[in-house]
Amino acid sequence: ALSSTDVQHVFDNIDRSFQLNPENLIELTKTFLHEISLGLGAYNHPMAMIPTFVTGVPDGTETGTFLALDLGGTNLRVCEVVLHGDKTFSLRQQKYKVSESLKTGEATVLFDYLADSVDAFLTTHAASTYTVGGTKETPDVIHLGLTFSFPVEQTALGSGKILTWTKGFSAKNAIGHDVVKLLQDAFDRKHMHVKCIALVNDTVGALLSRAYTAGGCRLGAIFGTGTNGAYLEEVAKITKLGNSPAAAKGGYMVVNTEWGAFNNSKSVERSSQRSHLPSTPYDNALDRLSINPSFQAFEKFISGMYLGEITRNILVSLIDASPTPLLFRGKSTRILNKHYGLDTSFMSEVENAWEGPNRSLSGDQSAPDFATFDAEKLPDNIVRKLERIRITVIKELGFQESDVTLKDAAVSSRLNSGLEVRPADMDLGYSQIVRWACSLVARRAALLSGVAVATILLQTGRAAFAGEDGEFPTSTSTEKIGVGVDGSLIEHYPNFERTLRESLRSLVGEEVEKRVDIGLAKDGSGVGAALCALQALKQG
Ligand code: ADP
Repeated sequence: ALSSTDVQHVFDNIDRSFQLNPENLIELTKTFLHEISLGLGAYNHPMAMIPTFVTGVPDGTETGTFLALDLGGTNLRVCEVVLHGDKTFSLRQQKYKVSESLKTGEATVLFDYLADSVDAFLTTHAASTYTVGGTKETPDVIHLGLTFSFPVEQTALGSGKILTWTKGFSAKNAIGHDVVKLLQDAFDRKHMHVKCIALVNDTVGALLSRAYTAGGCRLGAIFGTGTNGAYLEEVAKITKLGNSPAAAKGGYMVVNTEWGAFNNSKSVERSSQRSHLPSTPYDNALDRLSINPSFQAFEKFISGMYLGEITRNILVSLIDASPTPLLFRGKSTRILNKHYGLDTSFMSEVENAWEGPNRSLSGDQSAPDFATFDAEKLPDNIVRKLERIRITVIKELGFQESDVTLKDAAVSSRLNSGLEVRPADMDLGYSQIVRWACSLVARRAALLSGVAVATILLQTGRAAFAGEDGEFPTSTSTEKIGVGVDGSLIEHYPNFERTLRESLRSLVGEEVEKRVDIGLAKDGSGVGAALCALQALKQG
């Protein structure tokens, strides 16, 4: 059997494997900058750094009515967007489910479904008039912007080849094809008067829509099912544009980084100087069993699609621990046993129930002291929090209230410690363990999200690392640095933004971090697609 010290070791080791100190963050940021420069210099680099042919961001004065179609998240969304020209917009939308068989079947079937959804929307939801620049008319064609949130090699504002699928999609006969043409062909097959004129990534959409509603923005970032960022780059630095007309024009262009692929292990040069994402066994298991092993490496540390699964891996390993189970007395549930059975929203719920303070970056590096955990000695407010988590665990993971494993007296966490074990201790001890596992995984995700944001600030010259003396360069700038964000993680996960900012502070200093204005890009994909369609019309 295990002694209480052994038990503590198990928890401490897991805890340690998820920690990132400021030096780790700095090294990762340097590697990130390196991969960005590789991606700007050459096509076919894993961090794709895709030129979008969007040559500026809106200022809020744009007007028009457009359809927008959004594929790439949990749902398919069709919307009608009216830009009022005063930083405001109105929007009607309808969500449609994308079944597993559509995600993994023939591409034409998927795109026919997209066209059918637009058709259904036009029949039931849309207004009858579509205006451009204030003139009301029922046009022969309705202009549509497509938000397509997968890696695409864009060749113009309105065309781009699909490079790979991510986020659980794998439709056949799509890779290498022009996504706009696939969609337009589906519209044409159905004789619909809809013309897709702009292709935009959700990340670019977040940047554009935040720029529209805030009057300016530097970076768009998604922290939802997946993660990605898009920012305004100097054309001169996008050296892979070579002698193309876009390069000759100069100025700025929005670059879609596809940073979810940062540190893809297979393709990144593995020189000893470069630091790598600190994979734990739980990450390795996730990667190995994923549909895209060793791809989207960064995304697998950060995004909603994966955090629940990493947490599930930790919990299951504690349930299965030998010789003594360290969680739920070795009992699991159907939900816990199922690949991707634990949703990231469960973690959110657990942490909300806790509402406790987060550990600081430089602070306590060891796991909570589980082996000597004593519910009797806990203050009432903590007991109430743990009790709330226990209810969430029972409800969401499919345990029974009457389940002996959560109520049984003869239990093990204070294992062999010689202390009397009481049922209430174990209920609450389990809650403590579950909360700890959730916060480990989410905190690491938020710190790494800060690495991505800091990298863009450094790349665009808006920030600098601290010098040898540990001091950050002083600046007299008062410029706000706009960051438009979207996604359930940043929107709903407790303390996600706070931890992201903690990471930013350690990387670029407090002065810069304070000027970073993180704002939700509300309906970013819809409004972004509309703004992009408008730009396509303007560019002719
Ligand atoms: P998408 O990125 O697909 O457009 P979302 O931004 O809503 O959509 O992200 C969905 C992801 O967020 C899912 O992976 C889900 O597990 C996770 N999620 C949903 N609700 C929450 C929540 N309250 N807190 C944290 N994550 C959540």
